[in-house]
Amino acid sequence: MKNNSIHIIGGGIVGLCSAWYLQKEGFEVCIIDRYNLSNGTSHGNAGMIVPSHFIPMASPGIIAQGLKWLLSNKSPFFIKPRLNLDLMQWLWRFYRAANHQHVETCMPVLYHLNEWSKQLYKEISLNPDFDFGFEERGLLMLYKTEKQAREEEELAEKAHQLGVNAAIMDLPRLKTLEPEMDLDVLGGIYFPGDAHLYPNRFIRQMIAALKQRGVQFLVNTEIVDFNVSGRQITSLTSRSGQEIKVQNVLLTTGAWTGHLLKKLGIKIHLIAGKGYSITIKKPGLRPCIPTLLSEAKVALTPMGDDLRIGGTLELSGVSDHINQRRLSGIMESIPAYYRNLEVPFSPSTKIWQGYRPCTPDGMPYIGKSSQLSNMILGTGHGTMGMSLGPATSKLISQIMTEQDTEIDLHAFRLNRFK
Ligand SMILES: Cc1cc2nc3c(=O)[nH]c(=O)nc-3n(C[C@H](O)[C@H](O)[C@H](O)COP(=O)(O)OP(=O)(O)OC[C@H]3O[C@@H](n4cnc5c(N)ncnc54)[C@H](O)[C@@H]3O)c2cc1C
Repeated sequence: MKNNSIHIIGGGIVGLCSAWYLQKEGFEVCIIDRYNLSNGTSHGNAGMIVPSHFIPMASPGIIAQGLKWLLSNKSPFFIKPRLNLDLMQWLWRFYRAANHQHVETCMPVLYHLNEWSKQLYKEISLNPDFDFGFEERGLLMLYKTEKQAREEEELAEKAHQLGVNAAIMDLPRLKTLEPEMDLDVLGGIYFPGDAHLYPNRFIRQMIAALKQRGVQFLVNTEIVDFNVSGRQITSLTSRSGQEIKVQNVLLTTGAWTGHLLKKLGIKIHLIAGKGYSITIKKPGLRPCIPTLLSEAKVALTPMGDDLRIGGTLELSGVSDHINQRRLSGIMESIPAYYRNLEVPFSPSTKIWQGYRPCTPDGMPYIGKSSQLSNMILGTGHGTMGMSLGPATSKLISQIMTEQDTEIDLHAFRLNRFK
């Protein structure tokens, strides 16, 4: 084993992109995943690359809105009632973080990370090994009510303060952007700087490119424990009992990270935010700009010839159960915004589900562990992991090679909730 070898546990967007940058820096990289990397959270998401999303999930107003949503069984947000200490602690920290000062502090950091990530996707897309439908067509946020219009206009105002381009559009202007769609909305905000891609293609092509460059993959291998000597992890133990000796360990295990870290006696606050998507193959008609339906919190993204529709955030733990009422909530919202968009949906429609790794303050965890000198973490990107994957991974490679980091890491430190 070379001195600069690294084992990455978790082959989602963050793990794979980290492998990409670490391999370029001369690391010998092995990616370990408990599944076969064909259909995880980084595959079926809405593929939006979002410099427009500079407001963390924990923000003023969200608590009152969340409580209202809890009263409806078709709303975009759900907490499964249960006595669970991790959930209680998470909710308390979320409540504490949902304030103006937190938003003001996080805005420039999230914007910088997202914008840089978009540039990194652009760079990767120029590589001949890749063709993942990266396009910079912007993002539309459509609203139907005066109340939502005011919220989105405030968002546009904040965007202008940050120097982000955001245009408030009335219906006639929206029609010039989406001439084929019969919109039933009051207006919208257009963020021309956003982008989108086809996540399944990106992940597939990234795996192939990494293999070609000598990165090793150990799939269907779940890590269940660690051996530690002093302040170093010396080996990993898989569920089948395999011992894997390690030099450095990068944990990019998404929503499962908190659970795994308990094996090391390390506590982070992180829970799974489940969501669903369906992908309609070659629809007759579809929006040409990625769009968020603001009140319904539903995302529509054109991907290649297809259309992906995604939504809901359920704090219901990790389970295969599909909540049909939430799904109906997603599907029923679409004709309320588009009179002419037909979305075929029946009991046989293939439903994808994924788990956003959500932190209470809406900021990721990126950095080295203070307890273990050879462990580093990259997770907790919540609703923005696809967007923030490359920049997070580049930061990880800068940390591992002891370079100055592009962005100050303070907001991402692992022990910030103590
Ligand atoms: C419906 C929906 C829509 C979304 N839309 C967007 C969007 O438009 N834009 C955006 O930026 N983000 C979006 N997201 C969020 C984004 O998908 C996630 O934030 C991101 O995929 C998380 O990536 P990750 O690499 O951290 O984790 P994952 O992709 O979950 O990867 C973690 C990996 O770790 C592996 N693993 C876990 N535990 C172990 C273990 N013990 N041993 C070995 N392997 C293990 C898992 O198998 C998994 O492959 C969306 C999410 C959902 C659900």
